[in-house]
Amino acid sequence: MAVPKRKTSPSKRGMRRSHDALSVEAFQECSNCGELKRPHHLCAACGHYNGREVVAVGV
Ligand SMILES: [Zn+2]
Repeated sequence: MAVPKRKTSPSKRGMRRSHDALSVEAFQECSNCGELKRPHHLCAACGHYNGREVVAVGV
């Protein structure tokens, strides 16, 4: 088995991991209408949240 010759220094390990962080998505598609909505927020287009209509949208 190939074995690294030197232990990776904390600095090099940190440099490698500097690109690993997950970014938070500001918008997600509504599961009901497909419109972009903020996560954990009521959909402004169709009034749905968590798969059911919470607020009736007057059209
Ligand atoms: Zn929607």
